[in-house]
Amino acid sequence: MKRILVTGGAGFVGSHLCERLLNEGNDVICLDNYFTGSKENVVHLLDNPFFELVRHDITEPYFAEVDEIYNMACPASPVHYQYNPIKTIKTSVMGAINTLGLAKRVKAKVLQASTSEVYGDPTVHPQPESYWGNVNPIGIRSCYDEGKRCAETLFMDYHSQNDVAIKIIRIFNTYGPRMNPNDGRVVSNFIMQALQGEDITIFGDGKQTRSFQYVDDLVEGTIRMMNSDPKFLGPVNLGNPNEFTMLELAEAVIRLTHSKSKLIFMPLPQDDPKQRQPDINLAKEKLEGWKPQIELEEGLTKTIKYFETKL
Ligand code: NAD
Ligand code: UDP
Repeated sequence: MKRILVTGGAGFVGSHLCERLLNEGNDVICLDNYFTGSKENVVHLLDNPFFELVRHDITEPYFAEVDEIYNMACPASPVHYQYNPIKTIKTSVMGAINTLGLAKRVKAKVLQASTSEVYGDPTVHPQPESYWGNVNPIGIRSCYDEGKRCAETLFMDYHSQNDVAIKIIRIFNTYGPRMNPNDGRVVSNFIMQALQGEDITIFGDGKQTRSFQYVDDLVEGTIRMMNSDPKFLGPVNLGNPNEFTMLELAEAVIRLTHSKSKLIFMPLPQDDPKQRQPDINLAKEKLEGWKPQIELEEGLTKTIKYFETKL
């Protein structure tokens, strides 16, 4: 039995990760300040004696004897991370320092949830890990993009300077049950709007693309990365290479919900990336042939079922 700390464990991805790690027989500490996550996401785990829920803000140091740390704490939706940009960058940077400091002290292995946002508005398509990105350092997305980029630097430097065992994953747009219905990301927005018969809000002309990964595929890749060859640090892309325009996504959601909602067009937010698609060859090679198993229609159907319970 491993003792595992999951920061941001009460969030969308973190709660699925906690559940899976508990099911595999581990002792799990879920740390969260409930900024975008909630106790509701993990309430079904509270009866398990090997699950502990801790209210803590990762910008402050935390101490616990653990073997592994998954550092997931950080708001991920543009609406939420732009709400308090200084706090967002503190969460990424001080959160990384505190997590790495703990890992160094207790000799734990630590995995960083980085993001495809480190590629910014990419000029290389699809994006391999070797691409350095095209990020605006002073725009409205910078608090998140640059915070995550700095966290990657800290992870690499704690490894080279202090020999901390690290892993870095770059997560591409992921969706599924337990996304916050109000968090402003495109999948949750479109599904909630379609289920409530409201207009579907397309930003810009809707021709920008994203590649959507179902959460179970991400959790599988994340755990494989933690358990991979210690010499393989990453960063490694985890995402589903099937790419869709926002118009195609809206059409799929309308079809699957049998909604009568209409599309409305709204201004494109500043620095909104035009396209995004992961190159997952490295993940396939290093993570025992990992690749996404759940395609958009199946994943959306499961997600819609969840959001129906939130109406
Ligand atoms: P989420 O907002 O649902 O989860 C983040 C969790 O972190 C929440 O429970 C929140 O309360 C907690 N948190 C935020 N600030 C904190 C702080 N200072 N101290 C302690 N807890 C804090 O988002 P998610 O989609 O589950 O994302 C999880 C991680 O994966 C994030 O690091 C995010 O950047 C990364 N990621 C997610 C996606 C995606 O598409 N879902 C894509 C790229 C990267
Ligand atoms: N988007 C949209 N309507 C919405 C919310 C988002 O058209 O109601 C667009 C957004 O402009 C972006 C894409 O959907 O081009 C994905 O947005 P999201 O916030 O989910 O994630 P991002 O990949 O931009 O971080």
